[in-house]
Amino acid sequence: MTELIDLTVTQAVNALNSGECSSVELTTALIDRTEKLEPSVQAYLTRTPDLALEQAKASDNKRKLLNESLAPVPRLLGLPIAVKDVLTVANIRCTCGSKILENFKPVYTATSVQKLQDAGVVILGKTNTDEFAMGSSTENSAYFTTRNPWDRERVPGGSSGGSAAVVAARLAPAALGTDTGGSVRQPASFCGVTGIKPTYGRVSRYGLIAYGSSLDSVGVLARNVEDTALLFTIMAGYDIKDATSMDIPIPQIQLDGRTDLKGLRIGVPKEYFIEGIQPDVEKAVRAAIAQFAAMGAEIKQVSLPHTEYALPVYYLIAPAEASANLARYDGVRFGLRVPSEGNIEMFKKSRGAGFGSEVKRRIMLGTYALSAGYYDAYYGQAQKVRTLIKQDFDKVFEAVDMIAAPIAPTTAFKRGAHTEDPLAMYLEDVFTLPANLAGVPGLAFCCGFDNQNLPIGMQLMGPHYKEEVLFKAGHAYQQVTDWHTKTPEL
Ligand code: GLN
Repeated sequence: MTELIDLTVTQAVNALNSGECSSVELTTALIDRTEKLEPSVQAYLTRTPDLALEQAKASDNKRKLLNESLAPVPRLLGLPIAVKDVLTVANIRCTCGSKILENFKPVYTATSVQKLQDAGVVILGKTNTDEFAMGSSTENSAYFTTRNPWDRERVPGGSSGGSAAVVAARLAPAALGTDTGGSVRQPASFCGVTGIKPTYGRVSRYGLIAYGSSLDSVGVLARNVEDTALLFTIMAGYDIKDATSMDIPIPQIQLDGRTDLKGLRIGVPKEYFIEGIQPDVEKAVRAAIAQFAAMGAEIKQVSLPHTEYALPVYYLIAPAEASANLARYDGVRFGLRVPSEGNIEMFKKSRGAGFGSEVKRRIMLGTYALSAGYYDAYYGQAQKVRTLIKQDFDKVFEAVDMIAAPIAPTTAFKRGAHTEDPLAMYLEDVFTLPANLAGVPGLAFCCGFDNQNLPIGMQLMGPHYKEEVLFKAGHAYQQVTDWHTKTPEL
């Protein structure tokens, strides 16, 4: 049998169901490996090995009882996973990568996590993230930067960098991430794993600590499309606790060995192959598109003419929403409090000490963009252009079923490469932001390696609620290629 740490979600579930391994054995193997590798990967902000083993033991017992009474076993019973530290799990510290929440223990669990727990998962810990998910490298974490398992001098991407790293390093078969402007897809790309950013409203945001509420989505990182799809279907669905979650049926996604994509129309947007994109990246993405064509898909050139505005629009809307969302960290109700004379002083000192520089930059930008006299010129204008970006997608999806594009202009960059230059960091997001502004789903997966053996990712973006179509195409691709099976030597 494959080693326990190498098992994908689907393989692990099968192994648990057939009795080939117990949850305690699987969980122990992952904890032992993490013990060994965590010092050099630094993917976790909080590890919960004791709790995980307790949960694993309980799952093994539950399985035994259910089997004895011939009752159905929950689908993920005993499967260990990791959770990005912006999603709450009751009684486990949730820092959001920020000092302001260093000792915050939420009393409630995010719906996305709860649904997976109801299906039986075991939680290994909370993964590193840029502070409040603002960043593209985990370098904005107030604690430490996660290392890319493919080259530890490089970043894993962000903000779900910890989640991507645990999956790539085989410290967990899957991890939850969030994507407000690319934070599932870009780290998936940098670490060579598969990730889904669902349609906005598909997965409940309840318990996802808010960054940009009109953009935030909860996604999954795993080693292949099949696993990603499985966790997605369990997490998705209407939630009374999230007014923007949609009551639209979740398909039971059936992925088989079929690799015939006849009838599928894939659009290739010319705005995503621009100057400045690393030649290796363009080459690999184009080769993958040729592979889709070889499998029968029809490839069409398309245009998303407002793509170039996505960056300025996002960097107005996201900070504006962040400035409002982060107003709640005032030292009064929870989180860091720096005692001082008078409330206003306390408020200022707590926020001054608790937030890092990128978060402060965005709060200031966002507050300015929302302020009287500037609101129409900045926030209002950005909302209008956002509509144009969404209309670009609507129009293209009249002619094609999905769009294929690169995820990031480069492969994983070196630690420190952009830390002095926020704009250079923001430019990493040019290809991921449009999907969030339009609210459409995106599936990220590996399609090659550059000349330094760093993974190259690509994304398929589809119409709202059409994740299934993306999963089918991505799965077909992974049936005929083996990029997703490559693992870094650690
Ligand atoms: N890199 C983008 C940002 O810094 C996206 C982050 C995200 O998706 N959470 O805002």
